[in-house]
Amino acid sequence: MTVTVATLGFPRIGPKRELKTALERYWSGKTDQQALLDVAADLRARTWALQAALGADHVPSNDFSLYDQVLDTSVLVGAIPALYGRTSGPVALDTYFAMARGSQGATSEDATCGPGCGHAHSLETGVPAQEMTKWFDTNYHYLAPEVTRDQTFALSSTKPIDEFLEAKAQGVHTRPVLLGPVTFLKLAKTKAEGFSPLSLLSALLPVYVEVLKTLASVGADWVQIDEPCLALDLTDFERGELRRAYGALTHAAPGLRLMLASYFGGYGDNLSTAVNLPVAGLHLDLVRAPEELATALAASPESLVLSLGVIDGRNIWRADLPALLDRLDSVVAQRAPDRIILAPSCSLLHSPIDLALETAIDPEVRQWLAFAVQKIEELAILAKALNQGRSAVAAELEASRAAAQARRTSPKIHDPAVAARLASVEARMAQRNAHFGRRRALQIARLDLPAFPTTTIGSFPQTEDVRKARSAHGKGQLTDAAYETFLQAETERAIRWQEEVGLDVLVHGEFERNDMVQYFGEQLSGFAFTKYAWVQSYGSRCVRPPILFGDVSRPKAMTVEWWTYAQKLTEKPVKGMLTGPVTILNWSFVRDDIPRSQSCRQIALAIRDEVVDLEAAGAKIIQIDEAALREGLPLRRKDWQTYLDWAVESFRLTASGVSDATQIHTHMCYSEFNDIIAAIGAMDADVISIETARSKMELLDAFVSYDYPAEIGPGVYDIHSPRVPSVQEMSELLTAAQQRLSAGQLWVNPDCGLKTRKWPETKAALVNMVAAARQARSVQA
Ligand code: GLN
Ligand code: ZN
Repeated sequence: MTVTVATLGFPRIGPKRELKTALERYWSGKTDQQALLDVAADLRARTWALQAALGADHVPSNDFSLYDQVLDTSVLVGAIPALYGRTSGPVALDTYFAMARGSQGATSEDATCGPGCGHAHSLETGVPAQEMTKWFDTNYHYLAPEVTRDQTFALSSTKPIDEFLEAKAQGVHTRPVLLGPVTFLKLAKTKAEGFSPLSLLSALLPVYVEVLKTLASVGADWVQIDEPCLALDLTDFERGELRRAYGALTHAAPGLRLMLASYFGGYGDNLSTAVNLPVAGLHLDLVRAPEELATALAASPESLVLSLGVIDGRNIWRADLPALLDRLDSVVAQRAPDRIILAPSCSLLHSPIDLALETAIDPEVRQWLAFAVQKIEELAILAKALNQGRSAVAAELEASRAAAQARRTSPKIHDPAVAARLASVEARMAQRNAHFGRRRALQIARLDLPAFPTTTIGSFPQTEDVRKARSAHGKGQLTDAAYETFLQAETERAIRWQEEVGLDVLVHGEFERNDMVQYFGEQLSGFAFTKYAWVQSYGSRCVRPPILFGDVSRPKAMTVEWWTYAQKLTEKPVKGMLTGPVTILNWSFVRDDIPRSQSCRQIALAIRDEVVDLEAAGAKIIQIDEAALREGLPLRRKDWQTYLDWAVESFRLTASGVSDATQIHTHMCYSEFNDIIAAIGAMDADVISIETARSKMELLDAFVSYDYPAEIGPGVYDIHSPRVPSVQEMSELLTAAQQRLSAGQLWVNPDCGLKTRKWPETKAALVNMVAAARQARSVQA
């Protein structure tokens, strides 16, 4: 009887993003289906062998996906909307990709917004993709299942069985993973009104029973079923449905054991439901909810196998193994070893793959890190220590302890000047001098803008030329001076062009920026960057989040030179353009040794300095983008206010160092504001630009009922597709906006930045946008 090791899922994209390459080659018609399937099979084979070699006893299968595991589940149970034209039999690969990307698959990968923008990147023509949404509080996006009132389900794919057999043939006995029926239905969307997809549970369960039976018949003894909805607020009815579901599934096949997994948080008030479900095993996320170890031990039957998620599957930090063992000793004293499995807190899908590839990173920082491969190694060491005694892994434990100790005390991380500054922050620093009404009067007098002022969100097309120059500069093939000259020319062209079109408030175009977070992270102390630490965001799209490892400060001004260069070229006001602290935080791997709120305040102070410097250089308008503020909302409602309080305070701390006549803008690329409108109001920005084109301004209603006092630029132009909206279309949107808000409150701008668009369509659209604004002015006059 020994303690064993499990993983709940492994990254599927490949250490060198092999799957991305194969997918994109297939989509562009460069290779055939077989070539793609061969790459996928090879990745699976390598992944199974790797995990087994690293010491995982329970290796998952069916965690692989060509696009998304939720889409795989829709296909598995036959929830395929009629519009994809599938009749019966196995689902063709092209149907699968049509659900993922739309049938003309041109724009799915080119959202302007950063990771986690939450958009459904649908197409203008052809079959639209299914709606894409963020997976709980991660930056992974899944395709939302879509069901109808009279939805029927039927087993429509053999993927879980095929992959189990594929691994078996390779000599690896796997634990297949399925997304559970309750979470699946809770994530499902429907167009039918007054109908809850969860009411389809009875219709769905037989398909799950069939899958489980088949898996048992081919030799599976454990199946992992993921029900992360258990980390959310559930109603009594939903808890009852979970009991009903597992009451049915547990008897699906004699001898088959179910490991129920929830993650991204504790069970909280769902704990007693969870521990009493008739399943053989229960997984606990002990990184997010360490306190649940004791409660789960006490509350669960002794026969229940506990999967202890002690290694952080979401972050990149190396664990302090001796400290973890101190916690685990008491578990071993209370429960038989064969009732204990050690695991990462969640699927390793959300972690980069292998630190071994990361040879260029600062070696001091490197020794503090662990990616997916290293996390499995850590679990294997822990299991060995529990099974054979600590002396069996003495050297490994000592190395882990020493690294943790070094991290706790490193001067790279702890900057007394930052601590002192944070301690000296006073409440008034997060407050503008005057209230909005007074500021507005000063700003109007100073800026002298027409009614319905026009502007853009910041970036202009990042053309092939711009990317080439950046990459050549990065490789040392283009000198600093040559690169700078190139960027100056691009910036000047953008300024001239904006003047010609007649925009009122200009931007410099952000040509010098690789990414809205990375650009700042690279200039701030406390951030490290990787070469290969890619994490899947959706489909073939991967992101490489910066690693925020230490106290944050700003060695010198970051954007002032570019702003100054641009402003000198024109009489029109040029906006200073910054990324806000909450967005920088939410799109990075963050520290686990201090609260997120504290890192956020540090970033806020650094960006505040930049705001003040921009003002000193002459900027009259400064935009602080908070594209990712909403996505940082905690999973549980009871935790929302705490988050919003510190997020808003950080924004205000960033924005409030300037005089009342300086206009602060913010931008958010979504407009689901109903839940958080009070927080948006509390940010106290002078102008906010949001995305509203696709919702036809309906989403402005939140601002209306809240009586939002400040100015708003509701996007009149959807930048997610190359389509050029007509003057009339934008005029109609402006009229719709005026029905909701007063004319004096309105700005005219696109939904988001234009960096993924091409120049011709951008020019045509902005010419139309300016014409629409002029029309609105003439009607008003
Ligand atoms: N200023 C940024 C840009 O225009 C904002 C991007 C975003 O909101 N995601 O690119
Ligand atoms: Zn945006």
